[in-house]
Amino acid sequence: MLALFLASLLLTVPPPDTSWKHQRLRTQMVKQQIATRDVSDPAVLDAMRSVPRHRFAPNHPPELAYSDRPLPIGHEQTISQPYIVARMTELVEPDSTDRALEIGTGSGYQAAVLSEIVDSVYTIEILPELATTATKRLQNLGYDNVVVRNADGFKGWPERAPFDVIIVTAAPETIPPPLTRQLANSGRMIIPVGPTGGTQRLMLVTKENGEISTRELAPVRFVPFLRNTEN
Ligand code: SAH
Repeated sequence: MLALFLASLLLTVPPPDTSWKHQRLRTQMVKQQIATRDVSDPAVLDAMRSVPRHRFAPNHPPELAYSDRPLPIGHEQTISQPYIVARMTELVEPDSTDRALEIGTGSGYQAAVLSEIVDSVYTIEILPELATTATKRLQNLGYDNVVVRNADGFKGWPERAPFDVIIVTAAPETIPPPLTRQLANSGRMIIPVGPTGGTQRLMLVTKENGEISTRELAPVRFVPFLRNTEN
């Protein structure tokens, strides 16, 4: 009887590479890299504690996925450092009823973080292979309020506009005008702007009664904003 009880206990114990190991890594990540800096929105901190970042960087050991650095995801692209993802998410002041647009799906990680907070996320990736992988990954992980599209994000997603929140994760030299147009009234956009390899600035763009305001924030380094040649 005791043997049976122990056997059934064993069966319910998760395998060694368990989610609680990853949960512990996420708790540490938020505590040491994010909350100690300047991110304090509880919804953002909760989202960072809940999205399994290691599943978005499957070619790296989990310890590396949760470390304080960006990571290569193939095709010369990177998944941003956890702190940058958290900070950009906080800066757009996401709300549970918001419709959000992301340009630069990459691994799908930023989209997943955003989707934990807002109502729906529309995300555009220019490279077909990354768009396909991210679509499958987000589906497998159950992020069913995220829609991925393979296209040039310069034009935004007019059929789904306006957006309360826009997050751009590749740096154009200037702000694409369609994105500003697709910002809802009282909408917030965060976008790195500047030359490839040169000084880029994170910019916060807001719209109030049709008036656009732009605020320059920290210097940053993002991958370049690519364009489809047929556009
Ligand atoms: N947000 C991503 C990080 C992506 S890196 C994540 O969380 O993993 C930037 C991504 O922007 C790359 O995947 C790159 O292919 C994509 N990108 C660059 N220019 C683009 C464009 N014009 N439209 C859509 N995606 C673009």
